[in-house]
Amino acid sequence: VVKERGRSGYALFDADMEEKSLERILLEVELRKAVEREQFYLDYQPKIDFSKGTLVGMEALVRWNHPDLGRVPPNKFIPIAEETGLIIPIGEWVLREACKQNKKWQDMGYSPITASVNVSVRQLEQSGILNKVIEVLNETGLDPKWLELEVTESVFADLENAAAILEEIRGFGVKISVDDFGTGYNSFTYIKHLPVDTVKIDSSFIRDIHQNVESKAIVNAILTLADTLNISVIAEGVESKEQLEHLNKGGCIQGQGYLFSKPVSNELFEKYFRDSNLLFPEEIV
Ligand code: C2E
Ligand code: MG
Ligand code: MG
Ligand code: MG
Repeated sequence: VVKERGRSGYALFDADMEEKSLERILLEVELRKAVEREQFYLDYQPKIDFSKGTLVGMEALVRWNHPDLGRVPPNKFIPIAEETGLIIPIGEWVLREACKQNKKWQDMGYSPITASVNVSVRQLEQSGILNKVIEVLNETGLDPKWLELEVTESVFADLENAAAILEEIRGFGVKISVDDFGTGYNSFTYIKHLPVDTVKIDSSFIRDIHQNVESKAIVNAILTLADTLNISVIAEGVESKEQLEHLNKGGCIQGQGYLFSKPVSNELFEKYFRDSNLLFPEEIV
């Protein structure tokens, strides 16, 4: 590799970058195989209404178990999937699997909950995304009102276009939620212009809500705004009872996080339907 020098005199490539790009190439190759060989599975994390003590939904989170590399975390492979376009087939698989599982639980007689699926901007921009969603719902038999798409605010380069697509999907009865809310530069502009049912307060604000006045102020501002706009709010990354108490005081009644449960397999999740005490041990309530 030719080590060109930039104007500043720093090498543009160093050993560290070469190593990274090798890992990156390896992951890309393996990710392509993984799509063909269906090496993915889903974990499900409960969403809780803590004012009532009920299970209200689950977030489907994709997992990649590679035969040699082991588990590759989503934060490592989702960006690669987005860049390469592999997110299209992976995302479709996730959507279908989550809808199928949610319908199965309803058919088993458990009280219905919402299935939330993370959707990348690449998927939203894909022409015919609405038809894809409709196709999956028809195929799996899930009522659109039990499906929610989680989109990240930072991804909307073309806000008008995003709003139009989301409006169409929402018109079909599917819910829209803004993930990692509050981390973008234009969070408040976004929810003014986007058709949105729920915002998910980013875990970075929840992490220190009990210790940091700024975080607490931001959370309270989000709650006030959402209330005015008639948008639901859920807190992500709730890990402690202390954080929960602050949220409760501020009027936030929904949450998701290790305090209640980590993302779990479908078998484990079924236990939560049967015994909601598992989600609300005495220390929490
Ligand atoms: P996200 O959508 O914001 O999901 C929340 C992440 O926080 C998940 O990490 C979850 O396991 C983790 N988490 C939940 N509760 C807690 C907690 O109390 N404490 C801490 N420290 N972490 C908690 P995960 O599963 O590793 O996913 C990371 C990101 O990868 C997701 O962030 C999402 O952006 C992306 N992702 C995951 N699955 C999919 C998918 O199917 N499609 C797309 N496009 N992206 C996905
Ligand atoms: Mg999410
Ligand atoms: Mg998030
Ligand atoms: Mg995210």
